[in-house]
Amino acid sequence: MVYHMVDFELPNDVKELRANVAAFIDNVVLPAEPEVNTRPYMDIVRELQARARAEGLWCPFVPKEYGGMGLGHLGNAIVQIEVGRSFSMLGAWALNCMGPQDATMLTLIEHGTEEQKQKFLVPLVEGNLRICFSMTERAAGADATGMQTAAVKVGDRWILNGEKWFSSGASASDVALVMAKTNPNAPRHEQFTTFLVELPNPGYQILRDIPVWGEEFDPNFEGEQTMGHAEVRIEDLEVPEANIVGGLGMGFQMGQHRLGYGRLRHGMWSIAKAQAALDMATAWAIERETFGKPLADRQGINWMLSDCAEKLYITRLMVLHIAWKMEQGKDLRIENSMAKTYIANMLCEIIDTAIQIHGALGMTYDKPFAHWYTHARANRIVDGPDEVHRWTVGRSVIKAYQRDGTTASAAGGDLF
Ligand SMILES: Cc1cc2nc3c(=O)[nH]c(=O)nc-3n(C[C@H](O)[C@H](O)[C@H](O)COP(=O)(O)OP(=O)(O)OC[C@H]3O[C@@H](n4cnc5c(N)ncnc54)[C@H](O)[C@@H]3O)c2cc1C
Repeated sequence: MVYHMVDFELPNDVKELRANVAAFIDNVVLPAEPEVNTRPYMDIVRELQARARAEGLWCPFVPKEYGGMGLGHLGNAIVQIEVGRSFSMLGAWALNCMGPQDATMLTLIEHGTEEQKQKFLVPLVEGNLRICFSMTERAAGADATGMQTAAVKVGDRWILNGEKWFSSGASASDVALVMAKTNPNAPRHEQFTTFLVELPNPGYQILRDIPVWGEEFDPNFEGEQTMGHAEVRIEDLEVPEANIVGGLGMGFQMGQHRLGYGRLRHGMWSIAKAQAALDMATAWAIERETFGKPLADRQGINWMLSDCAEKLYITRLMVLHIAWKMEQGKDLRIENSMAKTYIANMLCEIIDTAIQIHGALGMTYDKPFAHWYTHARANRIVDGPDEVHRWTVGRSVIKAYQRDGTTASAAGGDLF
């Protein structure tokens, strides 16, 4: 009997693709990064986008018929790990795969009407439209079903009233995807609808970009031009019926298919960042001497590096398995929640180790760690806080035991 091993070898075309993207990031994107604080960010983006398109590196996940590269989940994941090496996010912008642009393209492809595709999807894929996502309110975040913004139908229009906050990029966007309650009497997850709101709009008033930890030091890089996080008053905001995406009451159901994609992309970016932090920590451990020996000769430091390497290895296996499950169309909700939490914490811990090994130098802005850490820290809150995902996974563990007499199916048991 011949047993076939699980094959972790990437297909040749994926390897080739990775090499092409890596060369583009090394030769075109990374050399542009020092310009970030010297001239308008979106000017740099537009120049890089022209070069990326010329090389056929464009919207990796979007089907070819809509103007993208048409990659599957594995191919896209491998592209994203190279894109993630650009810390200023220029890589993601260059290939037009920055969130929430990319996830919105997927939503429109899947759920948009023909008119919405022409009006919003085509310019999004062309890179000519900025979009933001307005779901979170002061009243409701982790439990988004607590949203208070309400929409009432008047003739062929909907009138929205309420508030939003943390709408990333709203100040620089042409369109906002706004979620609002359209039917308070429906079951909880069917009460909300997503509206495409063209900006600027007198009914969508941006009150301020909320000052966020770590972002105050980079006015050009993360400021108004790119990703400020807006607080918004929604007052008698008129939206035509034709701008509803995916149908009435579909706000939550529609979002589910993009979650797997978004988390995989984020996971790959996190691997790239954690790898860079571990490389820098290791280089410093080899270079820096204390008490007559390099740090690298100390067992305590070796253990710290070992813990980081172990976490990166687990992360790589997790995202590969999730990419495979997505390609097979398998249910991956539990793995997705586990990976989301694990990877967000992994990145924080590895950056924290890099700071520790660098000593006081690690705390300075001469090194990038403080900036990286503040961004990485948000990953434990956005897209579902750790505790909510762990709550979901914990419930699945209990259900699996009650159903099967073992928790295996909620603990990666479909692997073997
Ligand atoms: C940098 C950044 C960018 C963002 N961008 C956007 C955006 O573009 N669009 C958008 O709509 N939103 C955005 N958000 C908002 C984000 O999605 C919410 O912050 C997130 O959903 C958490 O909601 P909350 O802040 O209201 O926390 P809450 O819901 O108030 O939760 C607070 C804390 O309570 C705990 N908790 C909550 N529920 C449970 C539970 N069931 N069991 C145990 N503990 C629990 C968790 O520790 C959680 O962190 C952004 C946030 C940040 C920080």
